[in-house]
Amino acid sequence: MPGVTTADRTQQVAARLADLRRLIEDLGRDPASVRIVGVTKGHGPEVGAAAIAAGLTDLGESYAQELAVKAADERLRGVRWHFIGGLQARKVRSVAALVHLWQSIDRPKLVHEVARWAPGARVLVQVRLSDEPGKAGCDPSEVPGLVAEAARAGLLVEGLMGVGPTEGGAEAARPRFRELARTAADLGLETVSMGMSDDLAVAVAEGATVVRVGAALFGPRPARAAVRAWGP
Ligand SMILES: *Cc1c(COP(=O)(O)O)cnc(C)c1O
Repeated sequence: MPGVTTADRTQQVAARLADLRRLIEDLGRDPASVRIVGVTKGHGPEVGAAAIAAGLTDLGESYAQELAVKAADERLRGVRWHFIGGLQARKVRSVAALVHLWQSIDRPKLVHEVARWAPGARVLVQVRLSDEPGKAGCDPSEVPGLVAEAARAGLLVEGLMGVGPTEGGAEAARPRFRELARTAADLGLETVSMGMSDDLAVAVAEGATVVRVGAALFGPRPARAAVRAWGP
């Protein structure tokens, strides 16, 4: 946006980050126990730079090419990149050296591609939390098998990830989030990545250890078409 300086942007993100940490505390959680991943997908690298300046260390992206472009940006050196989007197996190689945590592992093919190009990588198994057709994530019944398969392939399975249902508001997500946290605990997994801008509070109350926050930190995302102006 013309006229918006880095300092303005940083100040705004810092204020929203402080609100978010306060919310986490108000919900009875230690802010240090909930890692905040700033989701910068769709925004230019300057937004990531503001996030870093505001104190975030972890950024999430959903598109391989967009991640590769941003990771090459000087201002984003040292960022811990989280891959959070639908991942095509053939794109794994292109970002294998860049990703800190693969959050969207939902099928054996991805397990094996990641193990091939990023041996020993940290992963989360993504679980489908809604009955809506076409949603990403493995079926809850497949979780133990996929976790075991990833471990056998030498990946470091830190935990589970889920996206709340889009219908029914945040409260509709509560039982699903609770179930996800319970499944992770049953499997002895420490990380539970759940909660986005619209269902953050519910996710944190239900035990999220990672939240993935875009709009609530960075404002609305530009239309996908606008990404072409600066992107790959
Ligand atoms: C885009 C996205 C987010 C962030 O969504 P907001 O509503 O902007 O907070 C979180 N997780 C996943 C998987 C996403 O694709």
